[in-house]
Amino acid sequence: MTKPLIHPSVDNGITAGNQNFSGGTIECLCPSNKVEVSVGAQTLHNHACGCSKCWKPEGATFAVIAVVPKDKVNVTTNANKLHIVDESAAIQRHACIDCGAHLFGRIENKEHPFYGLDFVHTELSPQQGWSAPGFAAFVSSVIESGTPPSTMGAIRSRLRELKLEPYDCLSPELMDVLATHAAKQKGTYRED
Ligand SMILES: [Zn+2]
Ligand SMILES: [Zn+2]
Repeated sequence: MTKPLIHPSVDNGITAGNQNFSGGTIECLCPSNKVEVSVGAQTLHNHACGCSKCWKPEGATFAVIAVVPKDKVNVTTNANKLHIVDESAAIQRHACIDCGAHLFGRIENKEHPFYGLDFVHTELSPQQGWSAPGFAAFVSSVIESGTPPSTMGAIRSRLRELKLEPYDCLSPELMDVLATHAAKQKGTYRED
């Protein structure tokens, strides 16, 4: 049986990130007049995402997406080709109107736990050394994008083989960040 395809950047094995890497550019898929975005820092929390909103390349089951402080993200070329995919979404995904690639996702709600972080797909970068994906989020959601439920066992096995521990929400570390934010808002947060 062939292995289920996850995403082109991990299907042949995952390349480790370079800890001295300090950023680069993200470019859309247009053959010319590309939208270019400069990202002036290494990415964090890179992961495979099975949700139906993150941009995926043709044929991929999962997106691969990471975060970076938003003050490190600047559109440098062809900003006029960007549009926001869904203005009502918590993460406003800025995509190229011609090729559809998502250049960055931004949270405008200052109360959101991840406010201040932009979401980027470093597979759209010509540079090497970005942080490698370390887990898989929203795995069960790939069913909503048309993956047969009967294949989920094989998909989770493949993710584990790639050391992308599968979770059906975010990783425990990020779920703890969300719950900490909620506890602070409710006044129930306690330092130990
Ligand atoms: Zn484009
Ligand atoms: Zn997603």
